[in-house]
Amino acid sequence: NLSQRLGRVVKTLRGEARLTEDNIADALREVRMALLEADVALPVVKDFIAAVREKAIGEEVVGSLSPGQALIGVVHRELTRLMGEAHVGLNLATQPPAIILMAGLQGAGKTTTVGKLAKLLRETQKKKVLVVSCDVYRPAAIAQLKTVAGQAGVDFFPSTVDDKPLDIARGAVDWAKRHHHEVLLVDTAGRLAIDEAMMREIAELHAALKPIETLFVVDAMLGQDAVNTARAFNEALPLTGVVLTKLDGDARGGAALSVRHVTGRPIKFAGIGEKLGGLEPFHPERMASRILGMGDVLSLIEEAQKGVDQEKAVALAKKLKSGKDFDLADFREQIVQMRKMGGVGGMLDKLPAQFAKAAGQMPAGAADKSILRIEGIINSMTPHERANPDLIKASRKRRIATGAGVQVQEVNRLLNQFEQTRKMMKQFSRGGIGKMMRSMKG
Ligand code: GDP
Ligand code: MG
Repeated sequence: NLSQRLGRVVKTLRGEARLTEDNIADALREVRMALLEADVALPVVKDFIAAVREKAIGEEVVGSLSPGQALIGVVHRELTRLMGEAHVGLNLATQPPAIILMAGLQGAGKTTTVGKLAKLLRETQKKKVLVVSCDVYRPAAIAQLKTVAGQAGVDFFPSTVDDKPLDIARGAVDWAKRHHHEVLLVDTAGRLAIDEAMMREIAELHAALKPIETLFVVDAMLGQDAVNTARAFNEALPLTGVVLTKLDGDARGGAALSVRHVTGRPIKFAGIGEKLGGLEPFHPERMASRILGMGDVLSLIEEAQKGVDQEKAVALAKKLKSGKDFDLADFREQIVQMRKMGGVGGMLDKLPAQFAKAAGQMPAGAADKSILRIEGIINSMTPHERANPDLIKASRKRRIATGAGVQVQEVNRLLNQFEQTRKMMKQFSRGGIGKMMRSMKG
């Protein structure tokens, strides 16, 4: 798997003082395989590897980093740079209504994303939002947008399958102007494959509406095929950004790199669920980690080498036994241990049945991929806050959320999970924590 591949990169380069053409050749082959496994398209991988080779050669190996880690550092930095360094938000700076046109294949998630953006704009930016469907080929599509608008709490401009997309769009703009809507989201029809008529229609809509944002919506699960779709839409329309959907699934995220490479446009949002809350600002740095198959590449490699830190585990067990309060620093420690042991799934396998049952209620959301996010949130707290979780009220929550790049709800969720775990730990400490820790280490 990916971590193993990258682990091999580290091993191959152990003991070298400097990265050279020769000593990185094997390691780059592993990186190349890793990217292909992550579903990055081949031409993109080739360009990328060439860029990394150029950047890496001659790079001194600094401090405690091994050459392998240094190389992975270059790979990670270069991935992040290619995907755009920092999050780029929506541009709404225009005479209202700010028009946002959605483009993409059928099933990409356009209608859902309209609902998500509408909700986001209404809730976080207090915008007055109107949505309209120009998908006149399927009555169900218009009805779907209406439902979504209702859920998002925004206005819906009705249309029918007998109308022409251009007329609908013009009507909606006119309505938005007269009713002082600040944002107009225009949903469009997609086909199952790239299609001349569809491209012509959306290009016409674009010409008539002159939207400030033209967002290309693309399904991350498309993997390598995302390249062709992105190229076609990029040629037909002056895109301003990309929304990558269905990142909550198994998609490895390679589509992000491919789409960015082909369009040169920033990926502005990531779809992470079917519900309207399932939209996140896109963070290139995190996506780079995801493509490499790990949270914090360097630290994970270090930890993998060290294995489970026995001393810490024993100290934690002692602390719990002594009845001292379990705090967020301990919680983080526990999460790090879990991660080393192969995630929650792996841990549950190792727990004796009576603990596994209780642990099932623990970090309820602690599906393996959210473990790293939880860690990120705890890292954004001050030591004082970690030791005194009860101090964390609204304004601290906001600061922590901003620091970790997550929503406040997520901080709340974490604090709830922590609270549950603290309760559970109390039970464990009565039932023999030492036994649990020993069995966890398998
Ligand atoms: P459209 O044809 O482009 O308008 O696509 P829809 O918005 O109708 O979405 C197609 C399907 O993908 C629906 O079942 C959505 O619920 C689902 N979907 C959209 N975005 C996401 C996402 O981010 N995650 C998941 N899991 N499903 C999504
Ligand atoms: Mg649709």
